[in-house]
Amino acid sequence: MKITVVREKCEGYGKCVQAAPKVFQLDEKFISIVVDPNGDSDEKIVLAAKVCPTKAIVVEEEGTGKRIFPPA
Ligand code: SF4
Repeated sequence: MKITVVREKCEGYGKCVQAAPKVFQLDEKFISIVVDPNGDSDEKIVLAAKVCPTKAIVVEEEGTGKRIFPPA
């Protein structure tokens, strides 16, 4: 899956890190970054996107680019 963190939307709550800690980490500005897109299961990654209060995480299918979350 292709994972994008929209930095302008991220407010550093860290919920994504709790949901999928091998994929998301906070950088020095407390903005979420993707450290390993394959670090956790797809389910955990989608959950991370869902629990993000600002919907800053966009998950798309690799290859097709089809939006998985949030709904387009
Ligand atoms: S849950 Fe959302 S707002 Fe919080 S750190 Fe992750 S991407 Fe940023």
